[in-house]
Amino acid sequence: MAAVLEPDRDCSICPRLHDFITDWRGREPAWHNAPVPSWLPPEGHDHVRLLIVGLAPGLRGANRTGRPFTGDYAGDLLYSTLTKLGFASGVFKARTDDGLTLRQTAITNAVRCVPPENKPVGAEISNCRQFLTPTLNAFPNLRAIVTLGSIAHQSTVRALGERVATYPFKHGAQYELLGKAIFPSYHCSRYNTNTGVLTQEMFVSVFRNVRSYLDR
Ligand code: SF4
Repeated sequence: MAAVLEPDRDCSICPRLHDFITDWRGREPAWHNAPVPSWLPPEGHDHVRLLIVGLAPGLRGANRTGRPFTGDYAGDLLYSTLTKLGFASGVFKARTDDGLTLRQTAITNAVRCVPPENKPVGAEISNCRQFLTPTLNAFPNLRAIVTLGSIAHQSTVRALGERVATYPFKHGAQYELLGKAIFPSYHCSRYNTNTGVLTQEMFVSVFRNVRSYLDR
């Protein structure tokens, strides 16, 4: 049986997240309010060389719009960086009809459903790995992975069948793993930038390293 890359719109494997989304469907019926699918370049899976793994959709960001990192602050920094380094083209306007396209890049989340207060629990992260694992294997030309934050990083390492202790989260690191390079980065959340954990230059630097690696 082929691996399932995208969960059902009504996936209820994580009851807490399913209930949370159901509640928001009642409050905001025009919102996406469902697992957010991975976003691909127009040419499809075979053209993806870089995969970005985020944590989970933001309530008023991807959970509202249905596109990863679209509609809240994290997208401003991510997409301006991707455009600068040639991983996206167009102008990001935080709407799904802004015409922005990814170039040889795909974006997914370790947890596909919005968690309350942006905090998935361990069981939810484990549950959703059944979609992350086939996603990591769906790109025959994948060479680099950027993991945003420790949870996304650890879940990605586990999804690749490796030990987190061997490949710990460390901003700015580069690991070679099963023929792919993994670049961990602090998550581009407003909290991290407001508190100085992550500066714009630190974030751009990670993607500059990815660009150099892919162009080598
Ligand atoms: S987080 Fe993943 S596994 Fe859990 S309910 Fe959502 S789609 Fe299903």
